[in-house]
Amino acid sequence: MIITCRQLVEAVTDAREGALSVLDQLGYRAHLARCAGCRAYVQQMDETVTLLHDVRTEECVPDDFKAALLARLSKGTPKP
Ligand SMILES: [Zn+2]
Repeated sequence: MIITCRQLVEAVTDAREGALSVLDQLGYRAHLARCAGCRAYVQQMDETVTLLHDVRTEECVPDDFKAALLARLSKGTPKP
């Protein structure tokens, strides 16, 4: 059974987490195959999640570590 656009939007998180039943996955995928608007929506959601992950990862680097790394890089490569 093909789901509606509203149902797809409500199911995006479950689909990303693999929490949809096999039947719901079929409806989700069938809808995406036919609906360019929902494909664009899901693509934007994927890009947003990726960007948020990148920002979070970047913020996990402590400021003193960043400063020490930049200081070491500014001195050039150490000689063996
Ligand atoms: Zn749709």
